[in-house]
Amino acid sequence: MKHTDIKNILSSADMVGTNAVICGWVRTFRDSAQVSFLELSDGSSFQKLQVVIDKNKLKVDPECTKLGASLAVKGTVVKAFKGEGNEFNAEEIALLGTCPPDYPIQKKRTTLEFLRGIPHLRLRTNTFQAVFRVRSVAAQAIHRFFHERGFYYINAPLITASDCEGAGEMFRVTTQPWNVGYQTEDEYFKNDFFGVKAGLSVSGQLEGEVAATALGKIYTFGPSFRAENSNTTRHLAEFWHIEPEVAFAELPDVIELAEEMLKYLIRAVLEECPDELKFFDSFVEKGLIEKLTHVASSDFAVCAYTEAIRLLEKENARFRFPVSWGCDLQSEHEKYLTEEVYRRPVFVTDYPKEIKSFYMKQNPDGKTVAATDLLVPGIGEIIGGSEREADLGKLKTAMEARRMDMAAYKQYLDLRTFGSVPHGGFGLGFERFVMYVTGMENIRDVTLFPRSVKNIM
Ligand code: ATP
Ligand code: MN
Repeated sequence: MKHTDIKNILSSADMVGTNAVICGWVRTFRDSAQVSFLELSDGSSFQKLQVVIDKNKLKVDPECTKLGASLAVKGTVVKAFKGEGNEFNAEEIALLGTCPPDYPIQKKRTTLEFLRGIPHLRLRTNTFQAVFRVRSVAAQAIHRFFHERGFYYINAPLITASDCEGAGEMFRVTTQPWNVGYQTEDEYFKNDFFGVKAGLSVSGQLEGEVAATALGKIYTFGPSFRAENSNTTRHLAEFWHIEPEVAFAELPDVIELAEEMLKYLIRAVLEECPDELKFFDSFVEKGLIEKLTHVASSDFAVCAYTEAIRLLEKENARFRFPVSWGCDLQSEHEKYLTEEVYRRPVFVTDYPKEIKSFYMKQNPDGKTVAATDLLVPGIGEIIGGSEREADLGKLKTAMEARRMDMAAYKQYLDLRTFGSVPHGGFGLGFERFVMYVTGMENIRDVTLFPRSVKNIM
């Protein structure tokens, strides 16, 4: 259908006085003696278009005025009677689809929880339209950021035989029937599709290292899968993952890249989604715009794990899980550090090697690794990264200590055998970023069809 996006009608001074066709869904209808008003949304902008109907000239089918009905309207663009921008004088209205009164999206505000039960319709609301416009702008900005800096976009496989040890529980990929009668696990996998145990990738990092140690700078941006058996507001079984990997890079370079990227993304959203952010600032997180503007222009903090533990230990009385050196940081500790101690994003670095993955670069102290997590207020961990161990001998020692199957990692070890270089990278959870910039508090509300334990609507 030839038609013009409402976004263009609303803002283009050139269009005043011209004829156009617009399409959209009815958001509101108001009636008075001489004129009636329809507000239409077509998804192209946060603002709706006011369609003015001169009742003396145009008789409107009542079905066209129902909330949620879909219309095509022919008419003229005129300057708005009140306020800035344009509105639309209707000359002909065609009903595309009726919308009966049991339409679940009614005008009064409903709860996010109710809307989670109708994922196929919740995008008709202001909140979800705003979330998904921000999400799209952020995704484009990610590609732009890396492309501008000479990073290559790599697609790592989603089906894998390696489990990126430690990152999370893997979903299995199998074509075997449920009732096969094998005696051993080995037999089961030997007869399975790939002839070995396979699953959905928890991270594209290992393949990212393959590409980075040839192309120099790469990133992946795709789904990762984790069979997390926890029902939190920041974990999904399927999430989108941005994983840059850089050759000739050490931990400070990784930190610098992460900070630069996050600020770039925040600025992109501030610039390209002002209406959406105003909405979130008013209805979801007060002070959001100020927070983001501030974060985009100030330095993030950096704090070594050992120092973080020292700060946290002083507050042990308030934590459900008191800390001591060697323990993993829980969400409550991460939030305390970023929300109360630093009051801004903070990179925690140099974690004990026992609580981090085998591939992280071992520090000279023999106790810690060159890892970093970026913690942000309201969420906690948003990025996890590290310099990778480039020394073949040290890597093997770390794998032996974890009783890993060396043969399964032959390719990974080859990268250390043939022209090994210092390198590193990080993983940003895309949904966590969208939560951070919109203020939405539940990861299920920034994903089209969220997948989590016992939930696959
Ligand atoms: P967490 O401690 O929050 O469970 P993690 O340490 O297991 O995360 P990493 O393996 O470091 O996560 O993954 C890198 C990033 O991917 C995380 O910082 C986070 O932003 C994101 N992420 C990890 N797991 C999930 C998940 N289940 N759902 C959504 N995002 C996730
Ligand atoms: Mn992590």
